[in-house]
Amino acid sequence: MKSPIPDYLNALLEKARPIEDGMPAQYIKTLANADTSKLAVALVMADGNVYSAGDDKVEFSIQSISKAFVYAIAIEDAGLDRVLEKIGVEPSGDAFNKLSLHKGNNRPMNPMINAGAIAAHSLVVNPNATAEERTDRILKTMSRLAGRQLHVDEEVYQAELEDADRNMGIGYMLKAAGVISCKPDEAVKGYIRQCSINVNVRDLAMMAATLSNAGVNPATGEAIIPVDSVRQVLSVMTTCGMYDGAGDWVSRVGIPAKSGVAGGIIGALPGQVGIAAFSPKLNDRGNSVRAVAIFEQLSRDMGFHMMDVSQIARASVSTSVAKIVAGKEDPHHRNCDRSVVIFALRGAVRFAGSERLTRAIVRELGDPNPKDPGSGKHQDACAIVISLRDAFSLNAVARRVIHESIIRLLAEEKNVVVIDPNDVLKMDLGKLPTSQHPHIVQNEKEAREYIGGIGCSAVIQSDNW
Ligand code: GLN
Repeated sequence: MKSPIPDYLNALLEKARPIEDGMPAQYIKTLANADTSKLAVALVMADGNVYSAGDDKVEFSIQSISKAFVYAIAIEDAGLDRVLEKIGVEPSGDAFNKLSLHKGNNRPMNPMINAGAIAAHSLVVNPNATAEERTDRILKTMSRLAGRQLHVDEEVYQAELEDADRNMGIGYMLKAAGVISCKPDEAVKGYIRQCSINVNVRDLAMMAATLSNAGVNPATGEAIIPVDSVRQVLSVMTTCGMYDGAGDWVSRVGIPAKSGVAGGIIGALPGQVGIAAFSPKLNDRGNSVRAVAIFEQLSRDMGFHMMDVSQIARASVSTSVAKIVAGKEDPHHRNCDRSVVIFALRGAVRFAGSERLTRAIVRELGDPNPKDPGSGKHQDACAIVISLRDAFSLNAVARRVIHESIIRLLAEEKNVVVIDPNDVLKMDLGKLPTSQHPHIVQNEKEAREYIGGIGCSAVIQSDNW
């Protein structure tokens, strides 16, 4: 079978191709002369699988898309507190190149407009670093994000430098306001150089997928951005990534995104997919007209809106019951002929999944409540099995809730067995008294033999344990 996804992407491009509105960026000569027929799209799944269509090898400068990643680097190099001291996180509603600072505190409104991005650039490496040290660090990190060595387009760099009065103006304003401490022209030159790094849509989609995949490049497996920084970056992309079009974008497309004046747009849907689209003609906000159309269509067709509530975290726990029957070698095991209750968790478990688990345990192992028919029905179970076989991950809060539930069950002298082949429970047994250790096994057979003795079997009363 041929995958339908590349065909879909080709159809998506054909739908966007007739759109002829807009103009390539005029203030950077190289961009003004871009081939406006170019059109491409790429998707990278959170496991690193890449799909692309159209002019997917054509390179263009990353421009303002770099701001999202340089913000992450600034957080790493200067720390989030210092970054927040210097740059706000409020959408400005202004054009990207406005000479503006927040009236109350004299900080740039956010890191996605030029003022904030130049300030973020100046925090890379350290405040006394040279433009070369900073751009070197940025180029190296962007290359790791893309999974291949990227290069600065010197022609684009020179062209923008020739017409950089506005950005230079912003640099001097930032210096006068005490936001940057280095020489303004160093910060601006470095910033323009970071904007001149060449990429294609596949690079951009991989960089976006790294954000979607909690900061780990899904193709190389390299952890590049700490997960807290990813959350910060995606938050400002959501509220400020599309400049004065941010509200419109969030409601129509609903994907944290960032655009650049060379015609690229990235979108990073947390936990799912990284997307990039490219075509040089821009609307008056500086966003590629065709790339916007592609994102709108993709979001509708694929259900990519982040506020889509069709997936409710409800089905993540299932309960089943098995009866353990003694084997020949161990006919009188004390746990024979009694029922075992199995709670199975599925998927990426967060608070809601762990809450469902504790609720099910409390209800089924507690006292029967006449008003609630199923309650108390496993009160006399000889063992409680928590199966994490199909749990992909537990986040920190889910882990805490489940650990606490296990400790409480053990305090009631229940026999608790955890099936954890993927090692997601991560209970720090070294720190806990042995009375608080559940019995952890790799699979159902080991669980069964621990409960019922070697050679025992389980008669399944429900589900397929
Ligand atoms: N280098 C461009 C500038 O500073 C980036 C702008 C953009 O992509 N929106 O003007």
